[in-house]
Amino acid sequence: MIYDLIIIGGGPAGITAGIYAMRQRLNALLITKNFGGQINKKAVAIGNYPGFDKISGAELIKKFKNHLKKTGIKIEKSKVNKVEKDGDVFLIFIEGGQSFKSKAVIIASGSDPRPLEVAGEKEFLGKGVSYCPLCDGPLFKNKNVAIIGSGNSAFETAIFLSNIVNKIYILECGPQVKTFIDNQEIIKKTNKAKVIVNAALKEIQGDNFVKSIIYQDKETAKEKILKVDGVFVEIGYLPATYFVKDLVDFSERDEILTDPNNSQTRTLGLFAAGDVNVGKYKQIITACAEGATAALSAFEYLKKQK
Ligand SMILES: Cc1cc2nc3c(=O)[nH]c(=O)nc-3n(C[C@H](O)[C@H](O)[C@H](O)COP(=O)(O)OP(=O)(O)OC[C@H]3O[C@@H](n4cnc5c(N)ncnc54)[C@H](O)[C@@H]3O)c2cc1C
Repeated sequence: MIYDLIIIGGGPAGITAGIYAMRQRLNALLITKNFGGQINKKAVAIGNYPGFDKISGAELIKKFKNHLKKTGIKIEKSKVNKVEKDGDVFLIFIEGGQSFKSKAVIIASGSDPRPLEVAGEKEFLGKGVSYCPLCDGPLFKNKNVAIIGSGNSAFETAIFLSNIVNKIYILECGPQVKTFIDNQEIIKKTNKAKVIVNAALKEIQGDNFVKSIIYQDKETAKEKILKVDGVFVEIGYLPATYFVKDLVDFSERDEILTDPNNSQTRTLGLFAAGDVNVGKYKQIITACAEGATAALSAFEYLKKQK
């Protein structure tokens, strides 16, 4: 069987694409590792999605997922390993070797946390090093932790952890923090966090579990040690595109290049929506909007194919 459309990803972009595809009566399949994508990592409430002045990530995902399921779309819970094109037909290979065929594809695979790439990161992953404050934060009750990075995600992590841990060090390798001013004000009021700028992380150390980190003070070039039990990595995200490398072009930041009018990539019938593409703003609402654009563009493309 050849589907009209296969959507890869169950985050805001993929879910919205699925809803729009089903409204156009497309025979669509959505393949995803999980539902919600990055919203699953959201440690504090969401306050910028219209209709909800304050909603938890879990609650918003539930609403998105229920809406999608009501459309009757077919869902495959799996990981896509490769996308190929043979003539006009796409072949989508999933874990385990099974494959699916479709006339059009939307890539909505979002992004994964950017690793630190310092000594000790891999060794202590799950033993003090974490990419998910929401999942692992409660393990650090009354302990001291470091957050690497100083953007919004890093400060939201600090806000969330301030109700759990004893002390938080926020390390920024540049001369100033990158988060919004309101996040800085909230963190200041907790009296639990110390921001250290010009701090380049060198190593994570420990025995069975993290015990300390070493960073270089870039002003003095001296190495310093901080005794911490946990390290939360918040230095940004990398687009998840390894399975489609031969069919698309990339920006300098490894995002998929698309036409902003229709989310089309350089391969006809292949669209990309949400954080995975070159769109400037990476937000839930922009991901949803791009998911809608991609699905409607796929519909137009399929109409012309007939
Ligand atoms: C900590 C944090 C807090 C945030 N807070 C906010 C906020 O308050 N407000 C806001 O608007 N935005 C916020 N964002 C940004 C927002 O979450 C993202 O912009 C949005 O989730 C992007 O949606 P997406 O669908 O493009 O990608 P993602 O959410 O990354 O979803 C990608 C989906 O693709 C799936 N996938 C990936 N690879 C594969 C594969 N090979 N095979 C199958 N499936 C795959 C994943 O499992 C996932 O379901 C936050 C992000 C983070 C990390």
